[in-house]
Amino acid sequence: MTTSYENLALYIDGEFVQGGGRVEQPVIDPATGETIGQLPHATRADLDRALAAAERAFATWRHVSPTDRGAILRKVGELSRERAKDIGRNITLDQGKPLAEAVGEVLRCADHCDWHAEEGRRIYGRVIPPRMPNVRQFVLREPIGVCAAFTPWNFPYNQAIRKIAAAIAAGCTIIIKGPEDSPSAVVAIARLFHEAGLPPGVLNVVWGVPHEVSEYLIASPIVRKVSFTGSVPVGKQLAALAGSHMKRITMELGGHSPVIVCADADVERAATMLAGFKFTNAGQVCVSPTRFYIEEPVWDRFMARFTEVSRGIKVGPGLAADTRMGPLAHARRVTAMAEFVEDARARGARIETGGERLGDSGNFFAPTVIAAPPDDAKIMQAEPFGPLAACVPFKDLDEALRRANSLPYGLSSYAFTTNTSNALRIQNGLEAGMVNINHFGQALPETPFGGVKDSGIGSEGGSETFDGYLVTKFVTQMD
Ligand code: NAD
Repeated sequence: MTTSYENLALYIDGEFVQGGGRVEQPVIDPATGETIGQLPHATRADLDRALAAAERAFATWRHVSPTDRGAILRKVGELSRERAKDIGRNITLDQGKPLAEAVGEVLRCADHCDWHAEEGRRIYGRVIPPRMPNVRQFVLREPIGVCAAFTPWNFPYNQAIRKIAAAIAAGCTIIIKGPEDSPSAVVAIARLFHEAGLPPGVLNVVWGVPHEVSEYLIASPIVRKVSFTGSVPVGKQLAALAGSHMKRITMELGGHSPVIVCADADVERAATMLAGFKFTNAGQVCVSPTRFYIEEPVWDRFMARFTEVSRGIKVGPGLAADTRMGPLAHARRVTAMAEFVEDARARGARIETGGERLGDSGNFFAPTVIAAPPDDAKIMQAEPFGPLAACVPFKDLDEALRRANSLPYGLSSYAFTTNTSNALRIQNGLEAGMVNINHFGQALPETPFGGVKDSGIGSEGGSETFDGYLVTKFVTQMD
């Protein structure tokens, strides 16, 4: 039995709330199947209190100077660095990822806090030259108001901090429902903001049955903006609901990222890098490379190296020092992986390594390399969101681009080539929100992160980060 874990709570109007006869949901360690905590669900009255608090706090927070807002964010960044080890340990306990990955996630978020603290000072309006000398015309960018955010379990700290930092730095207030399966990160974030002196009501954390909470908050006239990170089907539901109430949205949804490895690439380097990246967070990453298109002349070399590195990845509990890949976050992901593999096998693909669950307890699934599934195999059509890599050969770049673009997803994409004209064709040709060539360089605070097509609407990070949290007001004034 685990001895210490986050003291789970709601955070409403500056108070941590738990007990009081609220429904509780057990939180499970995916490495052992043990219950490690109990998460209180918000009652209707809790949601109403959070809405009222966020509305009340907005009236003053919107006028707090960007410098003062930034000071709180910077303090949270500082505290994140200080507490990264403890917070990371709890993330490993409820999400499963290796400790080094969990701690790294918290540390990277400190960077997001610092960057948003600074960028918030650069939310500028503009002056438009008038048609008459006694008129002045301004464009002001004002915070949109109360935001409702829904964040997932794969990067429970990162996904939450990106939304919170953008909202708060823009002068909005926010109610966030984090992932009930892996809740410690969002509670930890609330504790840090509380300690950093964030006024009551600016940030509120609620938990519950996801669709009940989201439907209630989105329908509330108090909420002006909805931000969601998660799957495409849920994103479409929430976007439709938000649309029916004319609410602004940011949607960071799933992907099925193509990788193109050209014959002129440094193939061994590409295979080694890709195997390392693929199995990060057990492949439960929206930008995880999933469909590998390999040019025929280097197919054998790529597959040999990629399979060798993938096979060598040490799978185990996230707290064990030598673990390179932890368990999947939930039992339902293990079942989903097995279904992808069986479908590919039945359609004639070869399983080069992995393809099965590991052990009898915990949600462990082997790093899996699937060779040459047909394009209509489930693994080539639907996002696996797990430790599966599907590899297929291609003859020429036009064919690779056509197949890469053939799905409704358009989040991230990758290519390896040493030929500059191939690189240009790839960056122009891929239908994706992000294109990484010869390295993995996305998801920095200063760079925009977002998808096209079914993969989402809007960006987080970069100078675009505030677009979803601001409204435009035109002012014209005559003497
Ligand atoms: P899911 O679609 O059931 O849930 C994804 C997340 O959305 C969870 O955190 C869940 O609590 C939340 N959610 C679900 N229904 C909701 C609703 N009606 N209102 C508000 N929140 C809701 O899928 P899952 O089995 O938990 O995860 C697997 C799928 O989720 C994957 O296929 C992947 O596409 C997607 N996913 C994407 C990301 C991402 O970063 N884009 C992150 C996590 C999960």
